[in-house]
Amino acid sequence: MPILLYNSQTRKKEAFTPLVPGKVSMYVCGVTVYDDCHLGHARSALTFDIIRRYFEFSGYEMRYVRNFTDIDDKIINRAEKDGIAWDEISERYIQNFYRDMGALSITKPHEEPRATEHMPDILRMVEGLVNKGTAYQLEGDVYFSVKKFPAYGQLSGKNLEELQAGARVEVDTRKQDPMDFALWKASKPGEPAWDSPWGQGRPGWHIECSAMSVAALGPTFDIHGGGKDLIFPHHENEIAQSCAYTGKEFARYWVHNGFVTVDKEKMSKSLGNFFTIREILDKSPVSDLEAITGECLRYYLLSTHYRSDLNWSEQSLPEAKAAMDGIYGLIHRLEEAGSQETKAGDKDCEEVLKQFSNKFHGSMDDDFNTPKVLGAFHELRGEINKLLAKGISDKIKGKTLENFRKFGDPLGLFKILPDIWFGKRTQIAPSGKVSIGESVIVKKNSMDESEIIEQKIQARNEARAKKDFASADSIRQELADQGIILEDRPDGTTRWKR
Ligand SMILES: [Zn+2]
Repeated sequence: MPILLYNSQTRKKEAFTPLVPGKVSMYVCGVTVYDDCHLGHARSALTFDIIRRYFEFSGYEMRYVRNFTDIDDKIINRAEKDGIAWDEISERYIQNFYRDMGALSITKPHEEPRATEHMPDILRMVEGLVNKGTAYQLEGDVYFSVKKFPAYGQLSGKNLEELQAGARVEVDTRKQDPMDFALWKASKPGEPAWDSPWGQGRPGWHIECSAMSVAALGPTFDIHGGGKDLIFPHHENEIAQSCAYTGKEFARYWVHNGFVTVDKEKMSKSLGNFFTIREILDKSPVSDLEAITGECLRYYLLSTHYRSDLNWSEQSLPEAKAAMDGIYGLIHRLEEAGSQETKAGDKDCEEVLKQFSNKFHGSMDDDFNTPKVLGAFHELRGEINKLLAKGISDKIKGKTLENFRKFGDPLGLFKILPDIWFGKRTQIAPSGKVSIGESVIVKKNSMDESEIIEQKIQARNEARAKKDFASADSIRQELADQGIILEDRPDGTTRWKR
């Protein structure tokens, strides 16, 4: 069955056919790195992570590119405010982005171009547009002339007259048309700047994505994505620039995710209902392990279809945790249950697994309907719980467990050991970190590993001073279990090594 994908450009679900059989190329607009990411960023990153994972799960070879906008007015303003260089700001928030997305187990794209690394591509495109007469120079600036691109408005469904009528009175009266937008901007003294045929300056935001996507994936590629707030003007402008430059079709499918609202209001800094991923992880009411909060956050984000708006409230994480507890509880039962005498449930169980597989594919093939898939997981849980009461053989239990892992994988769920999920294994590692496959569990406020070991050594020395040798030995043993050997030295100090 083909995968149906809602294309914002045609405003309908279409059967996806790739440009090159068996391969999918996808470009997604990434973040402007001037601050920590909020829930809306997590939602966009997760939407395209799921699309990527499911195409791969379905046997496609995927090429996924997502950019960083690492030069922008907001970055320059932030640098001024913090009193550090603009490129230190962008580097800091790129690293924070990786840290936060890692906690959500969002996989890295295959390529992550940064605007500042693509200046030659950007300049070539702007120059090409000027040479073709679709862009014009105004002192040190270059503008795209929307009138020269008759298809302008096709993505957002707006026509040029409406747009012009609705356009705010532009400050810049030099432009030929109020809708014309900047491809290149002259820099003010002291601002970061690159050489260009029009003098020192830097690129406009829209042209960066056109240049980077075409450089990475060629003039025509399969999917272009981003949040729905990017449809106009960002993506509309990308289409105009790219098509005018290459003379070819640009993205074949446009995919946009919905907003995150907070208590039904749009999340915004000015309303004070703005949640960064970091805050949510640090103040998590459900666990002090980042991987657990991360999975709950993933579950919550997947519980609404990616195109609908999604509401965040204080209850979102606890509700997600409770729903996940049910499934982890079953995984735990399947792992723990010893051999059962009867195998009365085997046949039904195989049938239930087959039906689940069909529902999973049917829902994911239908424009990545993750809420329906999660519903199917809960139905499956109910059925298996009933069959466990009847009796299931070890072989079928193993198959059922495998099923949760196999189908959990494209969603990035059910990867944590049930003992850790339910907090039965608390001492994970001195640093609070443990690797489970690709994901790393980090304890909230976890200390540096050597700090923790030094603390334990001190506690052991205090116990020895009080002649409490049982406690001292148990600390030594606890560290030994983690591969840390203590060496008491003649001067009374203790050294440790691995
Ligand atoms: Zn973009």
